[in-house]
Amino acid sequence: MALKGGWAGTILRVDLSTEQITRESTEKYSRYIGGMGIGYKVMWDEVPQGTHPFAEENRIIFGVGPLTGTGAMCSGRTNITSLLPSNPFHGVSDSHMGGHFAVEMKYAGYDAVIIQGKAKRPVWLRIVDQDVTLEDASVFWGDGTFNTIAGITAIMGKSSQVAAIGQAGEHQVNLSVIRTGASHSAGGHGGVMGSKNLKAIGVMGTGSVKIAGDRNAWHKLNKDTFAIVGANNQHVVPSTPQAWAEYHDPSSRWTSQKGLFWGAAPYPIETGEVRPEEVNKIGYRTMKAIKDLGPAGEKYTVRMGGCASCPVRCHSHLHVPELEAYGVSPNVANTCMGFFSPNGVMKGYKVAGKTNDEANVIGRSMGAQIADDYGVWCNYGQLGRDFFWAIDHGYLEKVLPRDEYNSLPLDKIEKGDISFFQDFYRRIAFKEGELATLGEGAWYVAKKWGFGEDYWSYKGNKLWTKLGYPVHHSNESDGVVGGVISSMFNRDAQCHTHQNFLFSGLPTNILKEVAAEHWGAEAIDEVANYTPANQAKAKFTKWSIVRNVLHDSLTLCNWMWPMTVSPLKDRNYRGDTGLEAKFFSMATGFKVSEAELDESAERIFTLHRALTAKQMKSSNLRRDHDQLTGWQFDMDPDKEPFTKGTIKLDRDDYDTALTLFYREMGWDEETGIPTRAQLTRLNLEDVADELERLGLLTA
Ligand code: SF4
Repeated sequence: MALKGGWAGTILRVDLSTEQITRESTEKYSRYIGGMGIGYKVMWDEVPQGTHPFAEENRIIFGVGPLTGTGAMCSGRTNITSLLPSNPFHGVSDSHMGGHFAVEMKYAGYDAVIIQGKAKRPVWLRIVDQDVTLEDASVFWGDGTFNTIAGITAIMGKSSQVAAIGQAGEHQVNLSVIRTGASHSAGGHGGVMGSKNLKAIGVMGTGSVKIAGDRNAWHKLNKDTFAIVGANNQHVVPSTPQAWAEYHDPSSRWTSQKGLFWGAAPYPIETGEVRPEEVNKIGYRTMKAIKDLGPAGEKYTVRMGGCASCPVRCHSHLHVPELEAYGVSPNVANTCMGFFSPNGVMKGYKVAGKTNDEANVIGRSMGAQIADDYGVWCNYGQLGRDFFWAIDHGYLEKVLPRDEYNSLPLDKIEKGDISFFQDFYRRIAFKEGELATLGEGAWYVAKKWGFGEDYWSYKGNKLWTKLGYPVHHSNESDGVVGGVISSMFNRDAQCHTHQNFLFSGLPTNILKEVAAEHWGAEAIDEVANYTPANQAKAKFTKWSIVRNVLHDSLTLCNWMWPMTVSPLKDRNYRGDTGLEAKFFSMATGFKVSEAELDESAERIFTLHRALTAKQMKSSNLRRDHDQLTGWQFDMDPDKEPFTKGTIKLDRDDYDTALTLFYREMGWDEETGIPTRAQLTRLNLEDVADELERLGLLTA
């Protein structure tokens, strides 16, 4: 079908081995929407079974979608698809970054950039509209992400956007990131860029994105969406009691309140009580520094920042002058995991003349800056948990050669000396010594250092499956719903659809009413008072995954979308789950219903499942992929599952939940492999044929 609006219409392909740069039409991929969908289609078509992530045959695809750059709310994410090095079977996975890289790609005229092969020497890719060249990166190779991004920006110009790897990516550390802008990191695929000798991509575009629909109708749609958005994670009630609000919830990210300031701004800026109708003040609602860094976050906050087309701004921009004493920039920007993950590596911080709360901000800012510059990925906090498991259980002393162990300044951890971060992350990024095994990811560390069964089954380690990825909105989020969602991906799930709805801050009775309208009232329960699996929960599970995949394909931010609920009492707190289809229809000129667009996302996720079976060489994903580590069933020994106050799962019930979910997805209920009938319904007959040829199709 000829593309009218939304998509740029062109995909850029760069073969680093041959230095050939070619272009192809996006039309071939339009059934896969964009972003994640294009990524999976390329991986299925082009990457042979059993390929290693660092092999020349692997691809890395930077994908954006038909809504990227249109101005649709929160549409500035870049989806990166490739084989994941830290996954033991090297499953296909995605990492995501915000900032302004995605929109610049669209303005340059591209829906995706496919990178293949391996450069003979370090290069960076320069994209200025149709002028695309490979440039010598020897001056940047060996440097961190901050200098690289600044250096390439200086060459290309201020309006360019740069995505780069640090030393961790160069050394093909499994846990490494690709960074862009001040604070946006995509975790997991930095080493793939490093293996291809690709240091960075710089992009600058002078074009625009065409909207197929009526201009005024588009503006009205965006304005209507602004009216129902909440704070970060679509939390729709404030964290404190406020005059305008019927409800409040202390865990809400709508933290703005009277007397709370951006304390390091050039002049006092009070976040204040921001009423829902004050759409020009949405950016004040999420005062994330006090959420991520505690009360002292206030005095260090200059402002909040974020991604293109996003009014919410969930990245705290801080000024932390104490970092200069360590030779580190005092200008720090990051969001939740960037600031949380240092707490895994150090357990507390001490800075002369500072209170504990202030030292907490300084220490975590230091950890975030150092990890970001080296380009080390925390694997959703697992890197730190593995480090302390190795210390606390005597492994570190046993596995590290004596000289190396003695050279590790562990006393700095005891003293709370934040310069420890510089030593720790350098060793990981440069693969110095045995300690660097930690950077390979949980599965590899456990295998090499001989962690026993107790490592996997200890609740505090938060490992969701034995494939080595941790919890990410798992059984705390509606019991088996979050549980099954967390089992379906090849890394931590990164799905916020269910989480944002369940923890929006609205009372359970209202959430149940909304659930009844979509999946059945019994889809959700009161928090930590969960009931067994049922069909409504299976529908909610499927919908949550499908919308997550849809957002990563369009591309929209899944920390905000979908708008299932709203802050508006006069709407009965209802949001609008049809908005994605309305935006897509208007942008592209192809009118689709909510159900039709969900079906496209279902196609993409079914292809992900087929890719997983193919790469694992498994005809039984229930057995080989979807099994949990055990603590989820054995936690809280004095409590039974389905009783108040526990998120404990039940083994038989989890199996039932898988069966019900497979049924919803049209997958073989025994094996969890997509059936031929379902693949045919989704126009994936070629995928069914290939699975059959490989002996992996079971029904
Ligand atoms: S909510 Fe945060 S991550 Fe999402 S688009 Fe906005 S700034 Fe970016």
